[in-house]
Amino acid sequence: MKGGLVMEARSLDRLGDEIAELSAHLDAATARLLDLIREFDDRAGWNTGFRSCAAWLSWRVGPDIGAARERVRVAHALERLPRLAHALAHGELSYAKVRALTRVATSETEERLLAVGRAGTADHVERIVRGWRWMDRKSEAQDNARRHARRELQVYQSGDGMVVIRGRLTPEVGAVLMQALNAARETLYAQTRPQDFDSPKDGSAETPTMAQQQADALALLAETALHHGIDPGAPGERYQVVVHVDAAPLADPDAPGQSVLEEGARVSAETSRRLACDANKVVMTHGLDGHVVEVGARTRTIPPALRRALHHRDRGCRFPGCTVRVGQGHHIRHWAQGGPTTLSNLALLCRRHHRAVHEEGYQLVREPDGELRFRLPDGRLIPEVPPTSKVPDDPAVMVRACHDTEGIVIHAKTAMPGWMGERLNVAYAIDVLHPLAN
Ligand SMILES: [Zn+2]
Ligand SMILES: [Zn+2]
Repeated sequence: MKGGLVMEARSLDRLGDEIAELSAHLDAATARLLDLIREFDDRAGWNTGFRSCAAWLSWRVGPDIGAARERVRVAHALERLPRLAHALAHGELSYAKVRALTRVATSETEERLLAVGRAGTADHVERIVRGWRWMDRKSEAQDNARRHARRELQVYQSGDGMVVIRGRLTPEVGAVLMQALNAARETLYAQTRPQDFDSPKDGSAETPTMAQQQADALALLAETALHHGIDPGAPGERYQVVVHVDAAPLADPDAPGQSVLEEGARVSAETSRRLACDANKVVMTHGLDGHVVEVGARTRTIPPALRRALHHRDRGCRFPGCTVRVGQGHHIRHWAQGGPTTLSNLALLCRRHHRAVHEEGYQLVREPDGELRFRLPDGRLIPEVPPTSKVPDDPAVMVRACHDTEGIVIHAKTAMPGWMGERLNVAYAIDVLHPLAN
């Protein structure tokens, strides 16, 4: 009886060893997988209609989008962290530990954090990384607070009557200001045709310098703000499309070219069609002599009730592999070309994919069976679910054989932590390890 128990315990030990050994092999193989993902991302192999490498990975291979993002992040992080990369490739650290450590490791701290990974369990590593990030955030918050406190804008009149402006803005506010200045400068100067600048330089027709243009742009911003009231507004309200309709063809909805979108100052026809697909519109009806005979009220191209039904049916962007929940209503056949605003002619697309179908040549049709079909610009179908890859009968044997030929030696104790059961004091560990801890 006793002999039977010993046998039992031995075979369980062997089973445990086998689990440990194969897990280390799989982690080592993950390092190779991450190398491939990094190369794929660097060469933009996913850029065939997908938003990101992670979105492609989730679609093609099947991890949820969060796990896919983590793989791409870790893949890139390991490029800068050769010691952690080596430990993973040799099965000495699990992918879970490496994933946690790459959240905080820099080339300066990598060595110390590798030691943490070797000594501790996955739980220890997770707790130390959490403490580490807290310390990182604390010093970052101090930096931010310092920057924020230094914001200032001085506006004063100098001796010659000119108003002088000097200031310092936080990065995010500065970005808004620069964007606004660019937009205003484009409005003021982009429509000016080049030949206007070719006229003889009598002083008045000279192109203003960049600094002069910036000053004019700021003036326009101030005037606009005072004129429209100081209200940042909702992003959806920023576009309004004017549609010119000939009165005669209105009676016959099948007549070609019944409506024409007003082209924006500098947007292509494709872009104006995308903006018009789901926007506010104002319909101007022209009489036979070309004059405007009627101006309709501003309406949404897709009425609210239909939009709710569309969101309820599509639940997010319909592009294969896309997980974005919010989207714009796309007319499969554009309303400007007579496409009806009905559920069967609408599909919800995120901003990225709405651009893909209007401006990048991706094609979208609804088949007679009601299914949507997306195609690449070259006409190849993008399947909703990709075909599964072929795998050898015993993948574990293949992984072991690969490591044998690469000379990577992995056994049951390769990834065993050095921990002897003592209590982990995270605060003490951070104090000793973190470069910014006092
Ligand atoms: Zn559209
Ligand atoms: Zn999308």
